[in-house]
Amino acid sequence: MEHGNVIVLLGPPGAGKGTQSIVLQRELGIPAVSTGEVLRAEIAAGTPLGLKVKETIASGQLVDDDLVNQVAAAQLSQPSFTKGFVLDGYPRTVKQAGFLDRLLAALGFGEPLALHLEASTETILARLVARRQCPCCGRIYNRILRPSKDGVTCDVDSTPLIVREDDREDVILDRIRAYREQSEPVIALYTDRNYLRVDGNLQPEELFPMLSSRLTQPAPLRT
Ligand SMILES: [Zn+2]
Repeated sequence: MEHGNVIVLLGPPGAGKGTQSIVLQRELGIPAVSTGEVLRAEIAAGTPLGLKVKETIASGQLVDDDLVNQVAAAQLSQPSFTKGFVLDGYPRTVKQAGFLDRLLAALGFGEPLALHLEASTETILARLVARRQCPCCGRIYNRILRPSKDGVTCDVDSTPLIVREDDREDVILDRIRAYREQSEPVIALYTDRNYLRVDGNLQPEELFPMLSSRLTQPAPLRT
């Protein structure tokens, strides 16, 4: 059986992983897995796992490896992911990266493409501080990049938008610091493999020609 493309998005929070993930899903026809979103769903559902995660995130720290690996394995083993997928925010540590290698091998996938998105710390801060979320439906807006129609309430359900607990400036700075400390060895693991470092703001027409030779299965031709 032919397995599809696995793309690992690397880069700090706010470097554009969310945006590029949407582009890759659309262009390659594969789903994305954001372990962060899965964890937030657990928090919203108030599960024991969710409560544990909530405390950790609110204190600006990153969630435990074993917990994140469990979430990833449960998600990626589902049939909807057999054609490939985009990983956003996973793996974050060397331990998670090792787990992912074994998981991909067990699921029959080849070498993933590590796509490293970069942006300056200034850019990242400006973007994340501007992020707003609807507490009702969970939709994410951005006062700079993607505001709601009136700027203050949700387009779908008119609920007043809030700043997520992990989007406060002090928490963001902690997240960036924690990310940089942890990510260096992870990025080092991938640089000698199928690795590509690009500006997180690249448009699809600039990005896809660079990707084509590195994908397991060719991207659809764009005319
Ligand atoms: Zn809403």
